[in-house]
Amino acid sequence: MPATALLGRTAAAATGRVDPNEPQAKSLGYVVDATKVDPKANPNFKPGQHCAVCLQVPAGKEKGDWIPCNIFAGREVAANGWCKVFVKRP
Ligand code: SF4
Repeated sequence: MPATALLGRTAAAATGRVDPNEPQAKSLGYVVDATKVDPKANPNFKPGQHCAVCLQVPAGKEKGDWIPCNIFAGREVAANGWCKVFVKRP
């Protein structure tokens, strides 16, 4: 299933940094600090996973503390963040 199908809705023209308390972020279990991920609630999580090494960050944009993520189009996520649709970049 494409990750976007999990969202159920699209953010309405939101901009800036993604807030973990937003509905879309909550539904994806997004956190700004991957070290705080609850492994019991997220059995797929592996230590070392974080947004800066995720496939959803466009190549060359993974530098810095806040980086763009394709799932939250036009918005920024924390480089050390994580969410349930994390896929490691090859
Ligand atoms: S899709 Fe990847 S880059 Fe985007 S919030 Fe989730 S883990 Fe971070």
